[in-house]
Amino acid sequence: MKKIALHWQILIGMLLGLVFGFAMLQFGGKAFTSDWIKPIGTIFVKLLKLIAIPLILASLIKGISDLQNISKFKRIGIRTIIIYILTTVIAISIGLVLVNVINPGDGVSEETITKLTQTYSENSSVQAKIQEASKQMDSGPLQFLEDMVPDNAFSALSNNKLMLQVIFFSIFLGISMLLIGEKRAKPLKKLFDSLNDVVLKMVDLIMLTAPVAVFALLANVVVSSDDPDILLALVKYAGVVVLGLLLMIVFYSILVATITKKNPFWFLKQISPAQLLAFSTSSSAATLPVTMERVEEHIGVDKEVSSFVLPVGATINMDGTSLYQAVAAVFIFQALGLELTFTDQITIVLTALLASIGSAAVPGAGMVMLVIVLESVGLPAELLPIGLALIFAVDRPLDMCRTVVNVTGDATVSMLVAKSVGKLGEPNIKNWDDNYEDVK
Ligand code: ASP
Repeated sequence: MKKIALHWQILIGMLLGLVFGFAMLQFGGKAFTSDWIKPIGTIFVKLLKLIAIPLILASLIKGISDLQNISKFKRIGIRTIIIYILTTVIAISIGLVLVNVINPGDGVSEETITKLTQTYSENSSVQAKIQEASKQMDSGPLQFLEDMVPDNAFSALSNNKLMLQVIFFSIFLGISMLLIGEKRAKPLKKLFDSLNDVVLKMVDLIMLTAPVAVFALLANVVVSSDDPDILLALVKYAGVVVLGLLLMIVFYSILVATITKKNPFWFLKQISPAQLLAFSTSSSAATLPVTMERVEEHIGVDKEVSSFVLPVGATINMDGTSLYQAVAAVFIFQALGLELTFTDQITIVLTALLASIGSAAVPGAGMVMLVIVLESVGLPAELLPIGLALIFAVDRPLDMCRTVVNVTGDATVSMLVAKSVGKLGEPNIKNWDDNYEDVK
């Protein structure tokens, strides 16, 4: 019998999870779902996070030491950062054009605003986001550089939130390995090469459980979602964000077709398991191991490029998040009947760019940085909880969608950079059981 392709298996798992979740809502199975179904999804996400740091470490060190010269690394680094900034600015611009043309905030009635404010403005997670944002705003302009440099390699490696520190340490180590010369670096290189292969095998094994895990993740999202009436009131705003995100996927497809000369449908198909996981987990960091595996083995991007572009992208390149921040900021102003000048909109471009770089690659992080965007265009502090309350109900579904775009953007840029340095090769797919017969 022909095996069903992984992306179909995951999609079926997701659909069944949705159906199951709605059935549980109908029949009062909320507690059952969170006691017995949710843990399956949580374990899966933990497994992915478990291998993220070893994967970044091993793959970056392998990638850099394979490069054999530092100027090649510099070329890849500079191109990556420039393309990341360009795609993010385009994403924000698409968001701003759509929200200004469609005006989703104008149709929101006083009644809805009052209802949303009453339901969410005192909500603990809205308050927590505002507090976290104010902590970030109190820090100096170079704080992010300071934060990037670890003072203890082992503590950096022991905290998933410190991914940029791990990237910094790995690059530092990789470059120093190049500098001691091939012969002396060989034992260490062999160690990381092998660790890299092992961790990628772990990705294959974890992915065997993906269809069941996404079932659990989506069933849980459905049972913890808000009242459908409230969701409906925000449908126009959510529609603008989703339309913008779809346009970004079209934009990536055009880039892939014109610059790498690959078929964009093929690209989307190869990357689809990572996209589906991004949707189910709402976390680009948790999806990173799968994104890496797909981009390297199924698309053919050389490790020398993907090992740098993808981990950096997962932490700083968030096109979907920045598009959402632009739309949400303008929507909140429109709904509250406040004016935004042209200069304000330019300020949104700049702050949303910085905010998306600063957003953590975890669920709901985009909303924290949205607070900073709102403050930069002068939303009074007392209106912040109301502003967030307006969009809070649909934040989770939109987070799922924007994370898909964040991950697709990283994969696209890795292809563009690889093409530009002649490192876009042919796929080389490895299966979990390639050696199974020898060891079973
Ligand atoms: N969940 C997003 C990510 O992980 C970040 C956000 O937009 O909240 O990419």
